[in-house]
Amino acid sequence: MPPHQLQVGIVGAGIAGLAAAVALSHAGHSVSVYEKSQFRNETGAAIIIGPNGSRILSKWGFDFAAAGALDYSQMRRLRGDTLALDSEEFFTDITTKYGDRWLLFHRADLHTGLKTLVSATHAEINLGVEVTDVDVGRGIISFANRETVTKDLVVIADGAHSELISKVLGRPCPVNKSPMSMYRFLQPMDRILAHPEAGQFYRDQPPGFTTFYKTEVGRPGLLINTYPCRGGELLYVALVHPTKPAERGLVGWDSPADVDNFLADAKDFHPAVQAVCDGATDIKVYTQMWRDPVERFAKGRVVLIGDAAHLMLPTHGQGASMALEDAMALQVLFTGVESPADVPSKLEVFDRLRIPRVSAVQVMSNKMMGPPDKMISEIKRYYGGEIPGPKAKTFSNEYNDFFFLYDVENEAKKAAA
Ligand SMILES: Cc1cc2nc3c(=O)[nH]c(=O)nc-3n(C[C@H](O)[C@H](O)[C@H](O)COP(=O)(O)OP(=O)(O)OC[C@H]3O[C@@H](n4cnc5c(N)ncnc54)[C@H](O)[C@@H]3O)c2cc1C
Repeated sequence: MPPHQLQVGIVGAGIAGLAAAVALSHAGHSVSVYEKSQFRNETGAAIIIGPNGSRILSKWGFDFAAAGALDYSQMRRLRGDTLALDSEEFFTDITTKYGDRWLLFHRADLHTGLKTLVSATHAEINLGVEVTDVDVGRGIISFANRETVTKDLVVIADGAHSELISKVLGRPCPVNKSPMSMYRFLQPMDRILAHPEAGQFYRDQPPGFTTFYKTEVGRPGLLINTYPCRGGELLYVALVHPTKPAERGLVGWDSPADVDNFLADAKDFHPAVQAVCDGATDIKVYTQMWRDPVERFAKGRVVLIGDAAHLMLPTHGQGASMALEDAMALQVLFTGVESPADVPSKLEVFDRLRIPRVSAVQVMSNKMMGPPDKMISEIKRYYGGEIPGPKAKTFSNEYNDFFFLYDVENEAKKAAA
């Protein structure tokens, strides 16, 4: 072992934990990841990563072609019943303007690509290992089998239902459930394209969102969002609906859906939209969850990242990109750190850098559907820089500039100086 390496333990091997493993290995440290699952491949989910995240992946040499990444190039909104086109927008100058790509992935392909990056380092991933406790002052990680290890730096990336967040905050921090849930599944694109009605939405179209919405006065709306992933082989379909009584107790985001419930919600959509959903198998349902910004991510030798630190609604598709930003911030701040004694002060810099940015993104994601003035005044409690105005819409230039022009590597270098 090189003499000046820190010993790093990472709890959780989702997008955040794997990204941190790549980052801290690149910073020169010895990394062990502890993941309680056996990495079964997730089905039925896709994800969008903005240039603020993809430029980090590029820096690490991520293989975008192997991961079947598609450039997010357009956004169309159609009435779910009449198919009238409500709005259409094309994103053609993303790389020129922001320096990297805006990408659509199958979530499992992004995860696999990150695993490939980890396997090119000396980091080890231990599967089937559940962490039960972390001593924030001494860096001791306890496992379900009663063994312990002691690390110089512990990164907690145990996701939305983090049990360990309370170790850093010194208080419980439960998640809030939104009143909306989401059915989701993947359809083979060749079958959709071959269908005379369903195919019309996707034939000869650049990759992007095709959204069908239905709103009734006085009732929360239904919305079906669709987009291609895995190099265009699959179509991701997500139907957002008011949470059913039977869905209220669901934990996690991979629960099998009640197909009758799904069909009942889909029945008011135009037959061509229903055809997009026809034959769906393996439908999952998830209740959308969020947390308010927290007062700190770091304490002693321990830092929270990813959804464990900043769970947010998927409004702007920024959750995973924030996890990638967290990882790159750790890479910059821990490059050249040789003494375990320096860990707490580096983590204080991490907090000063990440809390304002991430809290602003969290409020933008969680409060976008509420009164804009209230959202803006809440953002200003955390963030002093320029923010999108009250009339700005999701995926507008104003929001894109806010999310995508931010270069966490440069900002971390400034914070470290
Ligand atoms: C419907 C939906 C759509 C989304 N769309 C987007 C999008 O388009 N773009 C985007 O950027 N983000 C999006 N997000 C957010 C994004 O998916 C998350 O921010 C990201 O996946 C979080 O990764 P994570 O590693 O923090 O958590 P997770 O992926 O939950 O990983 C946590 C890991 O920790 C492990 N673990 C938990 N407890 C323990 C323990 N005690 N010991 C050991 N291991 C443990 C778990 O098994 C898991 O593997 C979306 C989220 C949802 C729900």
